[in-house]
Amino acid sequence: MTLTEPGFLRPHQSATLSAVEEADIAAVCPGLGQRVQAKGQPNPVLWGPHRDVVTGWSTDPDLRFSGASGGALSALLVHLLDSDTVDAIVQTTAAADLPIGNTIVISTNREDILKAAGSRYAPSAPLADLIELIAEHKASGRRFAVVGKPCDAAALRAMCSRDPVAAAAFPVIVSFFCAGVPSHKGGEQILTALGTDLTATAQFRFRGNGWPGHATATDHEGTKRTISYHESWGKILSKHVQHRCKLCADGTGVAADIVCADAWESDAAGYPIFDEAPGVSLIVARTDLGTKIVAAARAAGRIETTSFDISDLTAIQPGQRERRRALLARLLGQRLAGRPIPRYEGLQIAAAARQNPLHRNLRNFLGSLRRALRLTQH
Ligand SMILES: Cc1cc2nc3c(=O)[nH]c(=O)nc-3n(C[C@H](O)[C@H](O)[C@H](O)COP(=O)(O)OP(=O)(O)OC[C@H]3O[C@@H](n4cnc5c(N)ncnc54)[C@H](O)[C@@H]3O)c2cc1C
Repeated sequence: MTLTEPGFLRPHQSATLSAVEEADIAAVCPGLGQRVQAKGQPNPVLWGPHRDVVTGWSTDPDLRFSGASGGALSALLVHLLDSDTVDAIVQTTAAADLPIGNTIVISTNREDILKAAGSRYAPSAPLADLIELIAEHKASGRRFAVVGKPCDAAALRAMCSRDPVAAAAFPVIVSFFCAGVPSHKGGEQILTALGTDLTATAQFRFRGNGWPGHATATDHEGTKRTISYHESWGKILSKHVQHRCKLCADGTGVAADIVCADAWESDAAGYPIFDEAPGVSLIVARTDLGTKIVAAARAAGRIETTSFDISDLTAIQPGQRERRRALLARLLGQRLAGRPIPRYEGLQIAAAARQNPLHRNLRNFLGSLRRALRLTQH
């Protein structure tokens, strides 16, 4: 992968591809499009096919505290290792040489998983070593669960459905709701807001250590500087999300076995509250396997759960809701300006657009058209 300005990861083509290789990549690349089949499952327009939805948290207090929300995702990973469902977890953690950046880590115990807990709002490439991991699986039989963004989950699911060896190497796919990936410029601007910079920073957390927790920069002397989640995500990072993420039809991980998210409390008007509280994760099982894993983790005492009505998500996930509803108008704006757009099948984008009033669709269409024309002229 190559890091490009203003701090996004892009695939680097190092050799010429044959027509067959090109076609193989096109068949699994979520950037080009995504296909979803509900297969008779409940399939609400905004949230996609699912089996079980609950809220919950890790019963391990350290995981719950360090996790982005309730540490449920990390607790499920510990259960996957303990139950011998997989041998290792492919996940994302802070890069040693860039505190605001990410790297892949292969976790084999609770301590590794604890270190990687918490959301990191920066580019990540958890599938970058897939070929090597498949070779390792062929040689030793090692099985991996992969934690990735919804686009990573979609790519891996598509690959596993075409390649039985990949399916055996990666039997479990875990994801989280994703509002889009901010560039490193966003992370740097948080440091500026904290009155510091990259050279002075030894460690950086985007959130976690509480719910929602604070963005925290620790300098080389151990001094910590923090700002709230509302300031860091709401006022800085969300302004640095890459354009492609704004055209994403799947911010909720429809291809994963299990997806976690923030189960925010809401105020009287239904808006999410970001006051500090013991963390609570939303846990969505999207496949039979996901349902079994969540039930077994609960039975093993790794997570506590309570029931949740998925229709309540519409109020507490405003970012996901608005992006889904705006998507069709944005795609039409891009198309009219002659720009390529992803092909989506089964993601109910027309039904989502019908949930928006006409004036909002029009505003999104014109905004998208203007932006696309600007890009075309440059
Ligand atoms: C870019 C981004 C956008 C998000 N947008 C939303 C949103 O709109 N709504 C919402 O409810 N939740 C969103 N989340 C997810 C949310 O922050 C939590 O991950 C979710 O609540 C689960 O919390 P947890 O405590 O159960 O997970 P944890 O126990 O904290 O586990 C988090 C897992 O995510 C992995 N991870 C962290 N950062 C990355 C990354 N950049 N790429 C790949 N893997 C990573 C970690 O390795 C760890 O395995 C987003 C997360 C990211 C990284």
